[in-house]
Amino acid sequence: MIKISFPDKSVRSYEKGVTPLDIAQSISEGLARNVISASFNGNTFEASAPIMEDGFIKLYTWNDKEGKAAFWHSSAHILAQSLLSKYPQAKLTIGPAIENGFYYDVDFADASFSEKDLPSLEEQFLIFAREKFEFKMRMSSKSDALKFYQKENNPYKIELIENLEDGTISFCDHADFTDLCRGGHIPHSGFIKAVKLLSVAGAYWRGDETKPQLTRIYGISFPKQKELKEYLLLLEEAKKRDHRKLGKELELFTFSQKVGQGLPLWLPNGAALRERLENFLKTAQTKAGYEQVISPHIGNKELYMTSGHYEKYGADSFQPIQTPADGEEFLLKPMNCPHHCEIYKNKPWSYRDLPKRYAEFGTVYRYEQSGELHGLTRARGFTQDDAHIFCMQEQLDEEFKKVIDLVLYVFTSLGFEDFTAQVSIRDKNKPEKYIGSSENWDLAEKAIISAAREKKLDYVVETGEAAFYGPKLDFMVKDALGRQWQLGTIQVDYNLPERFDLTYKGSDNELHRPVMIHRAPFGSMERFVAILLEHTGGNFPLWLMPKQVNILCVSEKYKNYALKVLNFLENHEIRAHLDDRNETIGKKIRESEISKVPYMLILGEKEAQNETVSLRKHQKGDIGNFAIEIVVDQLKKEIKESQSTFKV
Ligand SMILES: [Zn+2]
Ligand SMILES: [Zn+2]
Repeated sequence: MIKISFPDKSVRSYEKGVTPLDIAQSISEGLARNVISASFNGNTFEASAPIMEDGFIKLYTWNDKEGKAAFWHSSAHILAQSLLSKYPQAKLTIGPAIENGFYYDVDFADASFSEKDLPSLEEQFLIFAREKFEFKMRMSSKSDALKFYQKENNPYKIELIENLEDGTISFCDHADFTDLCRGGHIPHSGFIKAVKLLSVAGAYWRGDETKPQLTRIYGISFPKQKELKEYLLLLEEAKKRDHRKLGKELELFTFSQKVGQGLPLWLPNGAALRERLENFLKTAQTKAGYEQVISPHIGNKELYMTSGHYEKYGADSFQPIQTPADGEEFLLKPMNCPHHCEIYKNKPWSYRDLPKRYAEFGTVYRYEQSGELHGLTRARGFTQDDAHIFCMQEQLDEEFKKVIDLVLYVFTSLGFEDFTAQVSIRDKNKPEKYIGSSENWDLAEKAIISAAREKKLDYVVETGEAAFYGPKLDFMVKDALGRQWQLGTIQVDYNLPERFDLTYKGSDNELHRPVMIHRAPFGSMERFVAILLEHTGGNFPLWLMPKQVNILCVSEKYKNYALKVLNFLENHEIRAHLDDRNETIGKKIRESEISKVPYMLILGEKEAQNETVSLRKHQKGDIGNFAIEIVVDQLKKEIKESQSTFKV
């Protein structure tokens, strides 16, 4: 008999050779029906494989992310099988499960493949899935594995195997199909009841532009038809809210091939929006004791040699700019931190001066492959709402709580109500991986966890996820469509103070090392605006809207009255626009709806005579006829309430 323990700490005895599925069966019929994958002693384990020793088991269903990963990984096998059955000359490369579904990269050789071929491939997929093929793992020697793919004439798999150690190579077989695989499957393909092959894209082998171009086929599968239907509806909605589409409609930003890929150009509406966001954060930061600094867009290569950024990113990023005469080398700034370290070094500090909090909306440049660029969420130049706090170790606790307050203020003022946090701490068994003393790490990790607890965050602690230079806290927000975005990060750093030899004089008159905190509640202005657009569909909180009111004249005859109304609104700092074009009022209303301006004031003969306005709300319609003073009072109240105030 072997002893199996469970996450609820219970322990049960089983015959040697019991499978996770048998174990599920022994617990309940319902569980057995729903279990699709498992882990044993922390490693992925086939649900139908025999267990030969004592250990700890976790059973996963569709509701677990591990369950979904097994489901989609297995689906990638069925996709590969379907591909080869229809395109026998195609060469399979890699096909992983991803956050939503799976993909497979294929070299179609001479055959052509496009989106129009997806439906028939999908049909084949479902025919195979219904066969309830069992997925069976098999170990293989390196030479056998190489022989197999030499026979298949597949240079991609050969390259993959050549990079693997003999003794670690395994295959997954189902039906008459086999693929190189590390394991983690659902019991059989019959669990897959619905599939949608979503799109076709180009991808380079190993992401390397100098290597052959492959065809990437994206798909997603579900255990129920209904779930696929719901997912496709969500995709429809996401398409409508795509920030690249909304950015164009609302005239916020654009891209120009001439300026360069991945380099956003902010249009007047977008620039005003961004300025409003910056001022919003600056005001709160000033209250919280931050000081604004400004640093240049480039820095001497030496600076990034000192910080270690050159070593880490140098070869894979923009290459140095050479000066014509003095042989100096400069780099486009990939991070603001090194500059802020030098700002700190401008003069000696005593413990009484700390913490120093330097904030900057600093634009940085990082090379991203053209295939990876995506609107504002992945750009080559972007502006971080960056700040670095230099403090004493014993101030870490307090500073962390203050930063969390600021992040929460940002989230609530911008309508992100559903968020979680992740605390990433070190793996104590691998001290060689981290810089800084063990005592300081303990203190920092404790400080972060107690701050997260005190601020009542919904958080998880992930061991071994810390960066080599310090532990961190990341925020994940869920948008209106239920998608997760990583937003806002707070990071402790013991490395840069060391590398830049930062000091302060302690009360003991000795020099000490400060700790550094990196933090960015928005992340970057670009990415934040993109997420905000997709979350709100462009219906920003009223305080942030580029235009809050559209004044629509029924006819040119009332232009004088309209100008008076416009003036009145502007005097009360309400952002209004007068549409006095010679167009029908119906057309003006429709266009105002598209531009998502929250309120419309319609002015015609009755309004001009009585000095009133007809108020219309975006997406709601007519509200009624009011004196302009009443409307202004109401709007001012609503604008104020749409943004909470930051208290320290
Ligand atoms: Zn597999
Ligand atoms: Zn930083």
